Amino acid sequence: MGSQEVSSTVDWQGKHVTVAGLGVSGIPAARALHERGALVTVVNDGDDERARAQAAELEALGITVRLGDGATLPPSTELVVTAPGWQPDKPLFLAAAEAGVPVWGDVELAWRLRGDNGRKPAPWLAVTGTNGKTTTVRMLASILEAAGLRTAAVGNIGVSLLDAVLGETEYDVLAVELSSYQLHWAPSPRAHSAAVLNLAPDHLDWHGSMAAYAADKGRVYEGNTVACVYNAADPATEDLVREADVEEGCRAIGFTLGAPGPSQLGVVDGILVDRAFVANRQKQAQELAEVTDVNPPAPHNIANALAAAALARAFGVEPAAVRDGLRAFRPDAHRIEHVADIGEVRYVDDSKATNTHATEASLAAYDSIVWIAGGLAKGATFDELVAGAAKRLRGVVLIGADRALIREALTRHAPEVPVVDLDRTDTGAMSEAVARAAELARPGDTVLLAPACASMDMFTNYNKRGEAFADAVRARADESA
Ligand code: ADP
Repeated sequence: MGSQEVSSTVDWQGKHVTVAGLGVSGIPAARALHERGALVTVVNDGDDERARAQAAELEALGITVRLGDGATLPPSTELVVTAPGWQPDKPLFLAAAEAGVPVWGDVELAWRLRGDNGRKPAPWLAVTGTNGKTTTVRMLASILEAAGLRTAAVGNIGVSLLDAVLGETEYDVLAVELSSYQLHWAPSPRAHSAAVLNLAPDHLDWHGSMAAYAADKGRVYEGNTVACVYNAADPATEDLVREADVEEGCRAIGFTLGAPGPSQLGVVDGILVDRAFVANRQKQAQELAEVTDVNPPAPHNIANALAAAALARAFGVEPAAVRDGLRAFRPDAHRIEHVADIGEVRYVDDSKATNTHATEASLAAYDSIVWIAGGLAKGATFDELVAGAAKRLRGVVLIGADRALIREALTRHAPEVPVVDLDRTDTGAMSEAVARAAELARPGDTVLLAPACASMDMFTNYNKRGEAFADAVRARADESA
């Protein structure tokens, strides 16, 4: 179904739409629908000062806002547009299902409204996966820019997809990060090409089961026209391609850290090569970039670069632009961020490693590590992670509420490794953690903050946790200078 057809089939005039949730997606949704003549009611669970200020702005436009009650469906509702994070078993959605009222997420709405401003809609190159989405989408945007295309990294990355689709700027193509929540509420979008980077248990409380989580991720491939990009090392991602209903001629393209087979991108002798988008994929391989062009060149990040390259190549980008785009890419803060070298010890902040899958990748990137870990475990277990990394651990410093879980796994799988169990959660705790890690480290080691846990027991978010680490490291660096 063409996008213009869709938006023109919806006559918004006088339509009763309930927008569930104020915030990054709810506010632009409410405004866009109101501008199109819909009668919008925003419902929101919270009723704090910020929500009241946001409500006042919307009410000034003539939008109804109901704070402190996100559970009840306003009686005349014909459509619900929800913030992606709202859990599907909320009473609001049960009521909508009972009343036969459709529920769209922010991505569905963006898809339906694209082209509505009279512009030719830009195709989407979409990325999902348990870890690496933001990094990959930023790498992709950097490559597309290097190719001279007008583009932006949008979606779950914190930039409203709706704003990008309806805004003043014209794009040739969009690099779209989609979370599993967003995909859950988005039955219609059809990407030009899409990638699922990896699949590991996460957010299972929200989705209900691993199968439901995988199915929501797999939605990203539905209706792809040119390429479905999967991770050859993660068969679950390839299964999702097999199950997807795609356009005739759409190809399955794998990425691998090894030598690529036909229709794959991979690595040969330190070079990223393409055996998919070449004239003769049986015999030919195209050099794209060197591993050292990837920043940082850790294995999981090379996988991200290959996925980004595959999507760009599917869109027709030349090899030189892949190289230039990867060289120009700078990782976001707190993602394997090199903070400082003190003596001969390297200090790295991967505070964004909030689950075991991300931490596993991070620990695999260094040979000898003093690992700072702990926080809120969110129901995770740590045996596999610790067993896999045991050989590379010089020592461990544990922080946070659920540190006993990691300590027990260390006792089982790495009994020789010295562990410092830091029983404090005050603001100075990180600085002590860094000091204790420095005592354990030897020349050539890496002190790595990769907590495998959420941060909210001690910090506002993972950014603040990373900053506390970096501040403590810099203070030591200054002292030793
Ligand atoms: P997301 O947007 O999916 O959360 P990010 O790019 O922000 O992903 O990275 C989140 C965390 O996952 C970081 O700690 C990073 O080191 C780790 N990570 C990045 N890419 C991968 C990958 N391909 N596999 C496993 N972990 C990864």
